[in-house]
Amino acid sequence: KVVTRFAPSPTGYLHIGGARTALFNWLYARGGGGTFLLRIEDTDRARSTPEATQAILDGMAWLGLDHDGDVISQFDRANRHAEVAHQLLAEGKAYKCFSTQDEIQAFREAARAEGRSTLFRSPWREADPATHPDLPYVIRIKAPQNGNTVIRDQVQGDVTIRNDQLDDMVLLRSDGTPVYMLAVAVDDHDMGVTHVIRGDDHLNNAARQMMVFEAMGWDIPVWAHIPLIHGPDGKKLSKRHGALGVDEYQKIGYPAAGMRNYLARLGWSHGDDEFFTDAQAQEWFDLSGIGKSPARFDFKKLENLCGQHIAASNDAALLHELEDFLASTRADALPTAKRDLLSTGMYCLKERAKTFPELIDKAEFILTDRPITPDEKSAGQLDNVSRGILHELTPRLQDVTWSRDALEAAAMAFAETKDIKFGKLAGPLRAALAGRSATPSVFDMMLVLGREESLARLNDAAQ
Ligand code: GLU
Repeated sequence: KVVTRFAPSPTGYLHIGGARTALFNWLYARGGGGTFLLRIEDTDRARSTPEATQAILDGMAWLGLDHDGDVISQFDRANRHAEVAHQLLAEGKAYKCFSTQDEIQAFREAARAEGRSTLFRSPWREADPATHPDLPYVIRIKAPQNGNTVIRDQVQGDVTIRNDQLDDMVLLRSDGTPVYMLAVAVDDHDMGVTHVIRGDDHLNNAARQMMVFEAMGWDIPVWAHIPLIHGPDGKKLSKRHGALGVDEYQKIGYPAAGMRNYLARLGWSHGDDEFFTDAQAQEWFDLSGIGKSPARFDFKKLENLCGQHIAASNDAALLHELEDFLASTRADALPTAKRDLLSTGMYCLKERAKTFPELIDKAEFILTDRPITPDEKSAGQLDNVSRGILHELTPRLQDVTWSRDALEAAAMAFAETKDIKFGKLAGPLRAALAGRSATPSVFDMMLVLGREESLARLNDAAQ
């Protein structure tokens, strides 16, 4: 059974790269009926504030990346990490090292002067405990000194590290606190993690974490180190390229489903499929589809997929998401009547909107009340001639059945009697109904607003 985890360090926000890592782990677990765990790597006490952790939880909640079980705090597990260090010590797989910083420094300088490797070799590795002084010490692991360590990585292939390049890593500091590498290995083992999918900036760490796994005789998880995300210019993604925090994408108003789809495609592919649902992504996601070279962030593609997801969304679900977005941008709550109209009109509002603000823009004809104040462009549509046309047309719509077919037929018939093209009618109608040009079609607006409100707006404009 698959167990994956996302193990962010709380830095104040959920980085877009972290979100992608979380998504890959989530997809992999959800696709195979596995488990997706969340561990907050909060051992850096200065940075690990409750707010920083909350920012990660908020980002994941918005993206819909639900995790199983409780949130695990790495810091809370410090005793367990120390216990493992002491077990390795008791088994002779680790040792107490009394070398001071000055001694280590001197060792390195001498090694450099003699042209030897500056990797610290502690004189205490083979020392008889009877000779141990009563001084502060660190616990170091006995790293293998011959042969190679091979990381069988699902993305990078076999990565071989010569063991003579590994030092006897410190497991426990002299104040008794565990080091990060120990914590990660112990946590991944204890949490039963079967697959570690994370950024390839952690590839070197894997070799060190493997030492702990091997010394403890634990099963090594499957590793998959994914290339980091690059900006459109091919350089490592940074602030210069645009938003880094997931919260910023939420504020821009991208739908979470579009975001998930885009992030899934960022470094992973399934044939030529670009647009897909969560269910498809969960079914298709596999480690072999992860690319070996860094994916470039493409804002156009993100927007394109977001537009497709908005258009394909279920109306009720979309309204719900739109309300969440509105709640975060508007102080006043949406009146029920407006909510109902949005619900009625969602079918036409969702066409060709890539973000929620674009969708809201199209919904202005619903959100604004009479009298409609036309913007400059629309005001130009309402000259004397157009107002005269509206004045004649409006009574003819009075008794028309309020359906698209009947409205269209009435408008066409009217255009014919006046010997004008329908296009000549659409501009003034749009200006009267919405006062702006970015709107759904005039018939959709009339259907959504209903007879009474539509005719009232047309009458207002005809005056
Ligand atoms: N905490 C690490 C990070 O935020 C990830 C560690 C891991 O996935 O093993 O980069």
